[in-house]
This record gives sequence, structure tokens and C-alpha cells, in this order.
Amino acid sequence: MSDPMNVLAPEHRRLRIGDAWRDAASGATFAVEDPATGKTIAEVADAGIADGLAALDMASGAMAQWAATPPRKRSELLTATYRALTGRSEEIARLITLEMGKPLAEARAEVAYGAEFFRWFAEEAVRVEGRYSIAPAGGYRILTVPKPVGPCVFVTPWNFPLAMGARKIAPALAAGCTTITKPAAQTPLTMLLLARIMEEAGVPPGVVNVVTTKRAGEVVSALLADSRTRKLSFTGSTEVGRVLLRQAADNVLRTSMELGGNAALIVCADADLDVALDGAMVAKMRNIGESCIAANRIYVEEPVREEFTARFAERMGALSVGHGLDDGVDVGALIDAASVTKIEELVADAVDRGARVLVGGERPDGPGHFYPPTVVVDVPGDARLLRAEIFGPVAPIISFTSDDEVLAKANDTEHGLVGYVFTRDLQRALRFTEGLETGMLGINRGLISDPSAPFGGVKQSGIGREGSHEGILEYLDVTYAAIDLP
Ligand code: NAP
Repeated sequence: MSDPMNVLAPEHRRLRIGDAWRDAASGATFAVEDPATGKTIAEVADAGIADGLAALDMASGAMAQWAATPPRKRSELLTATYRALTGRSEEIARLITLEMGKPLAEARAEVAYGAEFFRWFAEEAVRVEGRYSIAPAGGYRILTVPKPVGPCVFVTPWNFPLAMGARKIAPALAAGCTTITKPAAQTPLTMLLLARIMEEAGVPPGVVNVVTTKRAGEVVSALLADSRTRKLSFTGSTEVGRVLLRQAADNVLRTSMELGGNAALIVCADADLDVALDGAMVAKMRNIGESCIAANRIYVEEPVREEFTARFAERMGALSVGHGLDDGVDVGALIDAASVTKIEELVADAVDRGARVLVGGERPDGPGHFYPPTVVVDVPGDARLLRAEIFGPVAPIISFTSDDEVLAKANDTEHGLVGYVFTRDLQRALRFTEGLETGMLGINRGLISDPSAPFGGVKQSGIGREGSHEGILEYLDVTYAAIDLP
């Protein structure tokens, strides 16, 4: 197999600003690693504030023309991007795996998922509508006119290097906004490749800018402090989200915040256990557990706890761990050493408090940031494992005996992104749907992500929705005109 890096030529491992691919003004670069080996795979430009502001010059300069571009034309450019992504799925997937660590099958799934945002929003681009109505008291008419909010700044995480950017860029472009994306420093290559693909697809210069940097704090602050920026969309941790919300307040920016999760997955005694097991495996292990919607706490009703736990542990123990590009690998490397250390500490803390490790729990020797699929039982309520976002292949199992008890436990978190419920009882499912404080819910399903559905959280998991019709509304302001007509 050829080197996955061949897909991104050296001249495109630089900043995408307007119509140029260029070095940082300082000439600085930083290294990108393969987390499965710890080896450097590329050097990319390390932007400073001046580079960020140069990107904003371009995004702001291109704004009027892009907003005035006919929606059908914008739609066609998004469709061309969708086709290019799906047509080149394999080479893009290999790059994702190389810089992020997930198994190739998962990277292929991410390309399909990310591409679908371009198809979905190509369809939404031509369906942006206002309203016309008679004022209830008569005498005038009410007209609403949707307008693009303006240049947008996007900050994205490393866990889905393509999809987390795609679900911001596609609706923004559909609405007529221009963009600057700052990808995570650990996975900048996929976003640069997306910018290159969009350039080839014919997206005009200045509409999609990408600024890679190791100095996220100062570059993003400068962008948010500039009054030409009109919108911030962030996907990442709640901690950084809070910092950016404060910064966005100064210019009263529109914000979308896709933040951390602490999902409870609830298996009721009446569930179809085969369905629940499949669902729990997906909800826990998709993306190596490095997902905001990963099942963080698995609650199993006492009568089925033993059987569920034994079968789940067997399936977790049978997964193979290795380099994501190797055949037959189910679980790739975690993103970095700090991630492995954090997970080790969470498991050790649970064990210190009386929990037992059924499967896994020992990091392997050798290079790369690996941690095995792990099942922990008898986890006491005060264990940090149940409060922190694990972001890895560790599943704590806790038993419950009543719906009220499990609802109270599931909701006892600052997060509110997603929950999962497995039951064959419709009334029970509806009670959980109403009772769980989350923005999303999987009922007898472990996979809920879908570009045609509104993705997002409540409480400290975020503000706003991505995907679906709601996704484009995040990029539109509404002007209301009162038209006199006696
Ligand atoms: P993170 O540490 O919050 O970083 C996310 C992004 O913010 C990165 O691009 C990072 O840049 C940047 N950043 C960090 N500090 C910043 C600052 N002071 N100012 C401006 N930008 C800053 O999160 P992560 O570790 O990459 O991703 C994992 C988190 O994302 C988890 O909490 C997960 O739940 C959440 N997530 C949420 C969703 C959702 O839809 N709700 C989806 C995926 C992930 P650097 O890379 O340079 O640090």
C-alpha cells in the first residue's frame, strides 16, 4: 500500500488563506504524529495572530460575493464536494487513520458521515425561505428575510478530523457564509485535505480558509476580538467551550457549542439482550470510545445484570487492538500519552474505591498510545470514572433496581448530550425520553449520528444544533420588515 501522506502534497500542508497555500508569516511549523507509533508523519504551518487575521481578511473580503452567489450554484459546489469525498473515500480514510489512530473501517465510516453533511446541506441551500403574513391587527404586512450571519470562525476537535469540520462548513456555505477553520493541532491534515478538495471542486477563494496552529488560544482570541467575525462554532471540551463563550461575549457573537458528554446507557430487564449488547458495543466502542456520545456509564437492571455483564465482557475481550491501518484491527491507538494516563488513573481510582476489572485494565508495553477494551464492575457512585468523560475504551457497569433510581443517577451530571435506553416497553421508553435531561436519545440503538437529524446537547453539553434543517438556521439571521398596507 502507498504512503497515506501521498494524498496531501507538501505544498498543501500549509495554511489555506484566500487563494493561497502559504507558510506561517513566522515560518514556524509543528509536527503531526501517528499516535500508533509516536512517529512524526508531517510538519504543518504553525500560524500566529497575523496569519489568523489574514484569513479573516479573506473570509470577510469574500463574504458579499458568496452571499450573493445563487443558492443553486452554492448547492452545486457542495454536491461536487460530496462527490469528491465519496469518490476518494479510501485515501481520505487512510489519512484520518494515520493522524488520528482509529481503525480504517471507522475512518471510512467517518468519510461517509462527513460527506453526507455536504449532500444534506446542498439540498438545504435551495430551501432557505422567509415568511409573509398579515399583521393580526391589519394595516401592514410582515415579511421575514433570512440572511447569512457573516464570516464564521470554527474550532474543531481531533476525534472526527473530517466530520466535525464538515458539519460546520457545509451549512455555513449553504447559508452564504464564509469560514475560517482551526482544526485540532493533533489532526490538522484531514482539514487541509478537505480545503484542497473544495478548492478543486471550484469553491471560490476566501470561502474556506484553514489555519493550523499550535497557539490556539491567541489565534482564536484575536479572531473573536475582531468585529468582522460574526459567528463562532466550537466543538470540543466543555472547559474550553466556557472560555470561548466568554470571549465571544465581547462582540456578542452568535455561538454554537458542541461540548462534552457523559452518556448513560440504560439496559432494562425487559430489553432484547442481543439488541442491547449490539447497541452497547457500538455506543461504547465506536471511535475507540473517543466520542462525545460514547456510553460513559452503563446501567443494567438487576435481573439481567449478570447475563449482560458476562456477554458484554466477552465481546469486549475479543476485540483486537493494533495499528488502525492493519487488517482486522477493532481498536486503534488513543490520541496521545496523556489520554492513556488519564484513563489509567480513572480505572485505578475506581479500583481503589472497590470496583473490579473484569477485562482489560493493563496498558500494553511498546510504542504508541494503546489501552485495551476494559470492563469495570461494582463501581461505586463516587468513582471519578462515573463523573469524568472517559474518552476511551473503558466501560463501567452499574446495576439499578428502579426507573426513578436510574433516572436520578443518569441525570446527576453537568452534561446533557445523549442517553441510550434499551427496553421493549413503549411506555417505559417514553418515560425515559421525557425524563432524561439530554439533547438526544438512542432507543434500542447505539448509533444516533445522522446528518439529517439535529445533533446537540442541553445543560453544559452545548448550545445549538448541527445537521438537519436546524443546522442551517445557526448560520442565518432574520430581518423582519413591516410593510405598510392599510
Ligand atoms: P479541546 O481540548 O476542547 O479542543 C478542541 C479544540 O479547541 C482544538 O482545536 C483545540 O486546539 C482548541 N482549543 C483548545 N484550547 C483553546 C483555547 N484556549 N482557545 C481556542 N481554542 C482552543 O477538545 P478535544 O480534546 O480536541 O476534543 C475532545 C472533546 O470534544 C471532548 O470533550 C468531546 O466530548 C468533545 N466533542 C464534542 C462533540 C459534540 O458534538 N458535542 C463532538 C466531538 C467532540 P488544540 O488542538 O491546539 O489544543
